[in-house]
Amino acid sequence: MATILYGKPAAEAVLTDVKHEVEEVTRIRGVTPTLAVVLIGRDVGSTIYVDRKRSAAADTGIATRDHLFPDGLTEDRALTLVRELNADPGVHGILVQLPLPKGMNEGRVLEAISPEKDVDGFHPENLGRLMLGTPTMVPCTPAGIMAILDHYEIPLAGKRAVVIGRSRIVGKPVAQLLLARDCTVTMAHSKTRDLPGVARQADVLVVATGRARLVGADYVKEGATVIDVGINRLPTGKVVGDVDFDAVASRASAITPVPGGVGLMTVAMLMRNTVRACRQQTGA
Ligand code: NDP
Repeated sequence: MATILYGKPAAEAVLTDVKHEVEEVTRIRGVTPTLAVVLIGRDVGSTIYVDRKRSAAADTGIATRDHLFPDGLTEDRALTLVRELNADPGVHGILVQLPLPKGMNEGRVLEAISPEKDVDGFHPENLGRLMLGTPTMVPCTPAGIMAILDHYEIPLAGKRAVVIGRSRIVGKPVAQLLLARDCTVTMAHSKTRDLPGVARQADVLVVATGRARLVGADYVKEGATVIDVGINRLPTGKVVGDVDFDAVASRASAITPVPGGVGLMTVAMLMRNTVRACRQQTGA
């Protein structure tokens, strides 16, 4: 049976460090790291995520400023708001909760956030720096995956990593982070031929597809480490990952659970990005 890589202790370790960093910034600069939270629309999932982020901020001493628009906002008004937040020295990080309501151009809104306040790490400049190997603001879920691997001391250098999924927010950045840690990385996606065969080459398998229990035991090499990023709600209401946990746990040497794995790390890394953004902007 595989070791279960629970997110809680890894996230708590990150949040404890963040709390100390917040105390230090406040002591040295007299500044409270501040995160602006922009939530447009009434998406239930988004409201839950924003509540979790606010609560983690409160626990670590980070202040939040809410900009909530349950009845929607035009794209022009959203862009104006982002520009105002960019110019506000009292705001160090800007979180625009995704998805934005239909009809709004996500790319345009995210790209309007100034790169140094882009605590989600989705701005092209931050993604470009990541690719160049000089990252400043790393997207939270990929950063959280690396933090969980490090917390459990999973060796990476020289290992074969396969990432299934090539999104801008998970697959592509995590592949870059694994490459930077000297893994030999393969990226797979919906057009990959013989996906189980490709996945079976992995010492470290990261799955981010949004397809409930896509990955079964036939995708996993004996002794592999499996990181399940997926969050899928079944019609029964149960939340499951992209990996068939019970089938894979008997082949893998280590596996993240869903819920209770990577998801907890994402919020912790957002807090880390916020305090780091504040330090950069205030010279603390
Ligand atoms: P996207 O929908 O943006 O991307 C999914 C990727 O998976 C695409 O590259 C797609 O390939 C690939 N894919 C889809 N179906 C298959 C398949 N049958 N075989 C192989 N590849 C496939 O998703 P995200 O990256 O945004 O999210 C992925 C999952 O992670 C979701 O469940 C999401 O809820 C979860 N998530 C969890 C977070 C957390 O904090 N734990 C944070 C963010 C996301 P192609 O490009 O060819 O279409």
